[in-house]
Amino acid sequence: MKLQVLGSGSCLISQERTSSGYIVQTRGQKIMVDTGTGTSESLRRLGLDSSDLDTIINTHRHPDHVSDLIPIVQDKVVNSFQSDQSKITLMGPGGHRNYLDRRMHDEMRASPSEVEEKFGFKIEINELEGKNKFEEIEISSISANHGPEDFPCLSVRISSEKDIVFSGDTDYFEELIDFSRGADLLVADCSKPDEEKVSGHMTPTECAEIAEEAQVKKLVLSHLYPEAESFNLKEKASKTFQGEVVVAEDLATIEI
Ligand SMILES: [Zn+2]
Ligand SMILES: [Zn+2]
Repeated sequence: MKLQVLGSGSCLISQERTSSGYIVQTRGQKIMVDTGTGTSESLRRLGLDSSDLDTIINTHRHPDHVSDLIPIVQDKVVNSFQSDQSKITLMGPGGHRNYLDRRMHDEMRASPSEVEEKFGFKIEINELEGKNKFEEIEISSISANHGPEDFPCLSVRISSEKDIVFSGDTDYFEELIDFSRGADLLVADCSKPDEEKVSGHMTPTECAEIAEEAQVKKLVLSHLYPEAESFNLKEKASKTFQGEVVVAEDLATIEI
């Protein structure tokens, strides 16, 4: 099982880092987690395309996590005219179905059900809550501590041969410790250095506290704002977390 980083950046469109996106490769599947601005280009640079994707999970619907979703879906639908691909599963927090209906209607002139009717391409939508089993893969989620109350944001755990947890965008919250317990890899929102803490996101020390308490094996610091670049995030996190710390880089592959 491995993680490929499509984008390790934030909502700022920067030269250095693409907005949020990852590929989780299990034995049988490639799951894309978040589809931030520019991640479709990162897919291409990794030699992947929409035909490689069976499932896309969006942790929440800020643009830096969701912008490229419809372009990727459209690509897959249009490619299906000349291939035997006929399905994609889209997962996200509550309200995802309505969101996709609206956005696809506005941008593609066809909602998911209309796409199925017109083209025989099935878009399965799953609003994540608690634990779900999809064939050999278990996907669990809890509410993260990020946006206002009416803006659902998730932390997501994918369990297959190994366990990987995405904190999603979030401030430090206790429940994330239990949720991440014993995971092989924790990809954590490390937006800002300790010195410039903002609410709704974590610092390297907070990420490390979660990782240490939860006894995860490896911590990946991601969702970095440009300000975070001039600080030694790895050194900071390593003061609290005894395991391996990796600072995410775009297009990197991390073995789980
Ligand atoms: Zn974000
Ligand atoms: Zn966000």
